Amino acid sequence: MQGLMQDWPLLIHRIIDHAGIQFPGREVVSRSIEGPTHRTDYGAIRARSLQVAQRLGRQGVRAGDRVATLAWNTWRHLESWYGITGLGAIYHTVNPRLFPEQIVWIINHAEDRIVMTDLTFVPLLESIADRLPGVERYIVFTDAAHMPATSLKNAVAYEDWLQEADGDFRWVELDEKSAAGLCYTSGTTGHPKGVLYSHRSNVLHSMSLANPDCLGLSSRSVVLPVVPLFHANSWSLAFSCPMYGAKLVMPGMRLDGASIFELMESEAVTMAAGVPTVWLMLLQHLQKEGRRLSTLKRMLVGGSACPRAMIEAFEHDYGIEVVHAWGMTEMSPIGSCGSIKAQLSHVEGNALIDLKAKQGFAFFGVEMKITDDAGKSLPWDGKTFGRLKVSGFAVTRGYYGIDDAGLLDADGFFDTGDVATIDQDGYMQITDRSKDVIKSGGEWISSIELENLAVAHPDVHEAAVIGVAHPRWDERPLLIVVPKEGRTVDAATVLAFMQDRIAKWWMPDDVQVVDEIPHTATGKINKLKLREIFGAYRFPGT
Ligand code: AMP
Repeated sequence: MQGLMQDWPLLIHRIIDHAGIQFPGREVVSRSIEGPTHRTDYGAIRARSLQVAQRLGRQGVRAGDRVATLAWNTWRHLESWYGITGLGAIYHTVNPRLFPEQIVWIINHAEDRIVMTDLTFVPLLESIADRLPGVERYIVFTDAAHMPATSLKNAVAYEDWLQEADGDFRWVELDEKSAAGLCYTSGTTGHPKGVLYSHRSNVLHSMSLANPDCLGLSSRSVVLPVVPLFHANSWSLAFSCPMYGAKLVMPGMRLDGASIFELMESEAVTMAAGVPTVWLMLLQHLQKEGRRLSTLKRMLVGGSACPRAMIEAFEHDYGIEVVHAWGMTEMSPIGSCGSIKAQLSHVEGNALIDLKAKQGFAFFGVEMKITDDAGKSLPWDGKTFGRLKVSGFAVTRGYYGIDDAGLLDADGFFDTGDVATIDQDGYMQITDRSKDVIKSGGEWISSIELENLAVAHPDVHEAAVIGVAHPRWDERPLLIVVPKEGRTVDAATVLAFMQDRIAKWWMPDDVQVVDEIPHTATGKINKLKLREIFGAYRFPGT
């Protein structure tokens, strides 16, 4: 027997409809690319999204077509997503930090018909446009007054283009499983792979992630997504915030510590989300200027491991709750958050920071397991390392345009490529990417754990550990460090600091001090590049 509830498809436009009805005056504040701060609200965003959908339709865009966006976090980028999906088309977020060759590759692979972009990226697009034959039109997120002369095909200022539609439009009715968004993962080898989100997966993920243990959103929240819209769905904030009526503060292109601090203070931000590098810049700004954040209560940190020392500084020195989250583009993207469960509420001091340094527990909609190479499930004891596998309503089952039958295991779990432990309370801790784990004498050493320890040294700004071939042990860890501005470090002091804090056989065999560590387009340490740079390196005496 079937239930008698209504068929109410989970479509993205319902989110902006809800925001427009319940929270029409709730603000969306952006640092515009042109310069001034721009203020609008969900009522206006909804009205303009309808115009985007209508105008795109007149442009000949149809359900299922891909529309690229190459842009910073602003209100225009946000409303374009709702307009594109409200027409049944698919937003394809392009990460401007990818190499131009990769951008060409993914725009062609996605067969994007339209590219919507910020002023910042016009020169970049001009330099590659002759290799993008399928793009019919470039729409620049600006007004006539700021529109540059450009050679881009059929280029138009967004505001002029939008004016040609009055917004008298009905959202296209769709199956909730229809594709809504496309985001390519910056694979370290081979071509990027497209993850194709559906309306249903985005709506469910955004609804679930807003829970008090993760984003903790309400209509009283003021949220600053430092995480860009082009990075894995902006961790759902573009959907969760309007869904719950949270005020959105969009940072535009200035993400340095001083700019983020200023925005947090002027807009009374209560929650913010971003990668550790961004929070490190903010922390350094606070420390250098002797400033405090007066309204920020919680920060979500993810994308790469959050150093223990940083959690400690924000929590102890500034009274800000740090929630360490883990996920990946293939998971829409968040899979776990590190809030404290009731049975652990007695934990305090160093033990509490240790717990917060773990990547947290899966929230509703995500199941996790760790297995050995043969696929056998491993115990949740907090010690045993295994391949981390996940399943859920917002976890991918394939990549766009790739025949990858067999991507999931027999139980429907996706192998994340991460290696992790899970403890008896369900808290997962990433110990490595499976290709970065250091294999020493048949045992595994976690590069992430060594990096976290090294950055706790007061003079170390950033640290990376890679495995280097060793004649006896197969591989041994090489630690690479960048000193803090104005400080110096040497191998002996860093090693002395690490001694006794980890197992003896985990100690790096050498330390190299460098000016800079390379990063990927999504802000992670680029280990592939580091392995290339240190390709000829040999440990002393080997
Ligand atoms: P991406 O799809 O670019 O977001 O990359 C996903 C990968 O980033 C994951 O598979 C992890 O290896 C890594 N990652 C994300 N969040 C964390 C975290 N909190 N700690 C450690 N690694 C993380």
